[in-house]
Amino acid sequence: MISAEGVHARLAASLGLPFPDKNWLFPAIQMTFEGVTDFDKDCVELFFGRNYAPGFFGWLIPVNEELVRAGVAIGRVFNGKTRLFMKRFLKKHPHLRQRFKKAKIRETYGGLVPGTGPIKKTYLDRFMVIGDAAGQSKATTGGGVNIGGYCGRLAGIMAGKIISEKLSTYRGCLDYQRKWQAQFEPDLSIMKLFRRMLTPLPDKTWDKIIQIAKETDLQGYLKNSDIDLHGTSLLQYSLAPRILMKSTHLLPQVAVSLLHGLSI
Ligand SMILES: Cc1cc2nc3c(=O)[nH]c(=O)nc-3n(C[C@H](O)[C@H](O)[C@H](O)COP(=O)(O)OP(=O)(O)OC[C@H]3O[C@@H](n4cnc5c(N)ncnc54)[C@H](O)[C@@H]3O)c2cc1C
Repeated sequence: MISAEGVHARLAASLGLPFPDKNWLFPAIQMTFEGVTDFDKDCVELFFGRNYAPGFFGWLIPVNEELVRAGVAIGRVFNGKTRLFMKRFLKKHPHLRQRFKKAKIRETYGGLVPGTGPIKKTYLDRFMVIGDAAGQSKATTGGGVNIGGYCGRLAGIMAGKIISEKLSTYRGCLDYQRKWQAQFEPDLSIMKLFRRMLTPLPDKTWDKIIQIAKETDLQGYLKNSDIDLHGTSLLQYSLAPRILMKSTHLLPQVAVSLLHGLSI
């Protein structure tokens, strides 16, 4: 059996496997709009800050020349207030309110954005867990389609091998875990650490980090790295001597945030 239950993962949990930590699932709402003005169809915009998207971020993603997706994901402690934050985001944010004045909603979609990080054990004899249920998503951005989909493919290939090559069922399922972990686990775990540090970070420190990222051309640096596997490259960047020199004064706050995040 290949379980692709998403973040709720009841089946995996009922079999005694670890499941995604609820504290790191971010309530979210996303709407597709027509009639948004002044957007660049090749540019995704992200919005940070406690007033609009506490604990995660808001986004604006062009679909084509007419449609735009906008959404917010917020920290678990604000559960139940997602619509409120979305309304405030669209109506009050100084960079959005004018652009959404004449916008009309085409579609609304809600859910939990995964920021859990990878699950340690994702197999039993004859049982493999994939996708959000296995924490195969980027805790930094909450994106789980690509990596989760790729791991699903690995599980499918392994299930095929178990049947056609008469591989031991236990061995095959264990191999699935070994394969996906070898490819993705280190990066996903680093992204998880970044998420633990970022969610509790005060806005003032965030502003300074963004300023340093701009001054040191983080965007240019990341252009050469894999958009899905950015954990290691982000860590290498953050620990480079020139970045550390610029950010020494922020380290105590970053350390406090990380410890806070790890304790949740
Ligand atoms: C608002 C929002 C925006 C997002 N945007 C992006 C994005 O832009 N890019 C990106 O990469 N990711 C994005 N994500 C994350 C992405 O949606 C997930 O990582 C991805 O959908 C995970 O796929 P999955 O198959 O593991 O789980 P899901 O997509 O959650 O699918 C699980 C399915 O299993 C069904 N199910 C559950 N239990 C059972 C059961 N016992 N029996 C049968 N069926 C069951 C559920 O009903 C559901 O249909 C977003 C998430 C949200 C909430």
